[in-house]
Amino acid sequence: MNTPSHFAGAPRGLRSDWCGDLRIDDVGRTVSVTGWVARRREHGEHLAFVDLRDRSGIIQCVVDGAHEVRTEYVLRITGTVRERPDGTRNTELETGAVEIVDCDVEVLNTAEPLPFPIDDRRDVDETLRLRHRYVDLRRARLQRNLVGRARINAAIRGAMDRQGFVEVETPMLIASTPEGARDFVVPSRLSPGSFYALPQSPQLFKQLAMVGGVDRYYQIARCMRDEDLRADRQFEFSQLDLEASFVGQAEILDFVTEAVSDAVATISGDRPVTFETMTWYDAQERFGSDKPDVRFGVELTELTEVFASTDFNAFKAPCVKGIRVPGGAELTRNRLDALTDRAKKLGAKGLVWAKVDGPTAITSPIAKFLTDREVADTVEMLGAESGDLILIVADDRPMVRRVLGALRLDLGRPGVGDGGLRFVWVTEFPLFEGLDESGNPIPAHHPFTMPHPDDIGLLDATGDELTSIRSQAYDLVLNGWELGSGSVRIHRRDTQQRIFGLLGIGADEAQEKFGFLLDAFRFGAPPHAGFAFGIDRLTALLLGEENIREVIAYPKTQSGADPLTGAPSPIEAGQLTELGLRVVVPQPR
Ligand code: ASP
Repeated sequence: MNTPSHFAGAPRGLRSDWCGDLRIDDVGRTVSVTGWVARRREHGEHLAFVDLRDRSGIIQCVVDGAHEVRTEYVLRITGTVRERPDGTRNTELETGAVEIVDCDVEVLNTAEPLPFPIDDRRDVDETLRLRHRYVDLRRARLQRNLVGRARINAAIRGAMDRQGFVEVETPMLIASTPEGARDFVVPSRLSPGSFYALPQSPQLFKQLAMVGGVDRYYQIARCMRDEDLRADRQFEFSQLDLEASFVGQAEILDFVTEAVSDAVATISGDRPVTFETMTWYDAQERFGSDKPDVRFGVELTELTEVFASTDFNAFKAPCVKGIRVPGGAELTRNRLDALTDRAKKLGAKGLVWAKVDGPTAITSPIAKFLTDREVADTVEMLGAESGDLILIVADDRPMVRRVLGALRLDLGRPGVGDGGLRFVWVTEFPLFEGLDESGNPIPAHHPFTMPHPDDIGLLDATGDELTSIRSQAYDLVLNGWELGSGSVRIHRRDTQQRIFGLLGIGADEAQEKFGFLLDAFRFGAPPHAGFAFGIDRLTALLLGEENIREVIAYPKTQSGADPLTGAPSPIEAGQLTELGLRVVVPQPR
């Protein structure tokens, strides 16, 4: 990945070589290495083996004479590289064929016993790890992750530069950007009572940059969203954020594909060959999700027609779909009951299961309610064979998709790092994802997204009909994780005002919140489109980490705290006064 040979020509300071770099070819050379004592083993009275570790790896040094050297002391060792004697080679170490002898040891610093051992194989309490993150960072896994992340960023920058994009920094102290989350706010000292928001994304600034003729903008941008934290979410995260003028969806997909392919190649050596494209509707119909994990089959199969005139009441529903679980007939009754409970928790009225005994025969509690034709058609439509399990849900369409989509993942999803990297572009997202309490539509992406050209006529619709309008928004999905989103933007003032109106944002409110954007649209805004994807998620997936905290140098805990610095913490009374603030601590209820 980022081996020392990449930076062979760079200044070396106290070292002549990196620990992990020494090989048979170096035998006979006098070298100086620097780093931390990973391990010390006594060998007789005056001889010790010291494993010295730096970012690149570990080298064994044979140290003569009495030295006060303990674990994690910082040393500089100068000596001669020799081939390890027969029978003492260590095949688990890249440097395992050699060692350094005749060592001159300089102790650059001592170290107290560590709060936890630096050992990738041992699980350590996360709060303890984060409190001493500087110790944790010494672990090979985290070193690998940070280097991997830097390589990914460099690859992305290279790809964007090559495609004519200009890296532009946008401000951190801004007025609110709507991305659907809560803002973090910063009080203003010079205007007491007023606040900046930290950017949820650079969305409006990048659009303004298009009006400003930048034409192709990108930034590896820090974004801040005050949302509940999860394995794949932190308060602050990094995105590759981009925007381009005089292009549409196809070109944006190409730009991003290029950057992501380079990022993958820098880690794995191969460029991913395919990025599939699928409409939102098809993703929902086939995978029951807007972030389809296409590493495995178990697709949703439409059965509505099969049961169009059924006598079985539970299947008299607007939509009936099924999934086939290969070999699933082996599932125990307990497991099937658990699946039924899960389906009900997800909102289904029930779940029908059937074990397939042959092309026209099933074992199922509801078998007696179905006609022979219904059984035969179901088995055939699903392509099921003897020994398979069929699960069927009947309800309204969104519910059927949601329930079967979730069961499909429960039953078939490969682990992180298995099944290769399957990228899917999901296009034609709905413009609105539903209606709020006042009956106003809620934007599925954000309010700056252009409706699908074929659906513009539907903007006059009302109520639920509005949710059938498609947009020109698209997502990039990797192995069932949403990596990022983007859209073709509205670039005309009248269209933007119309969308604000539909969203229930009146003319005055629109002017107050987004007046600067509407104003900019008066002065020649070019057609433009963009995208942003999460670097933390991409890095975690490429490095096979389940939790993005493992690829972030200084992450927060699940409750948003930083045990290292103690943030968040109260500020001094004087600071509050200066900011014109008074703290009202909520009383426990
Ligand atoms: N600003 C959007 C986001 O952060 C991405 C985009 O539309 O470009 O999700």
